[in-house]
Amino acid sequence: MGSPDKTQWRELYHEVVETNLCTGCAACVMACPRDVLDYDHSETYHPFNIELSTAVDDCVHGQRGCDICTRACPRFRAWELESDQALFGRPRRGRRAAWGRPGARRPSRSARSAPSDRS
Ligand code: SF4
Ligand code: SF4
Repeated sequence: MGSPDKTQWRELYHEVVETNLCTGCAACVMACPRDVLDYDHSETYHPFNIELSTAVDDCVHGQRGCDICTRACPRFRAWELESDQALFGRPRRGRRAAWGRPGARRPSRSARSAPSDRS
């Protein structure tokens, strides 16, 4: 088990993929140096772990210190906060972006504009 502040596929899976923050960009799949991630092109358009020795939400290389997939993901933690600040003028609230929740409506274009962008 890695240190508590060390991130890997486990955190990416639970915080981005499982919560539907995942945009399906596949950056994590392309960045993974061990080729243990694949991509669902037919249904979810999300990445998944193909390494059979670990659970779907874990990575043996992540346990040993690899964190590259979390660094590649534009929606993981600080990246997401910075993006929300730049795009919406405020960080997201809670673990999920509002429009990432099942059944939630995406904010209107005007609501997504930073106050300084409004005429
Ligand atoms: S932790 Fe490393 S080896 Fe595991 S899925 Fe992420 S990038 Fe690939
Ligand atoms: S890098 Fe992040 S947003 Fe892109 S497919 Fe992977 S988990 Fe989803």
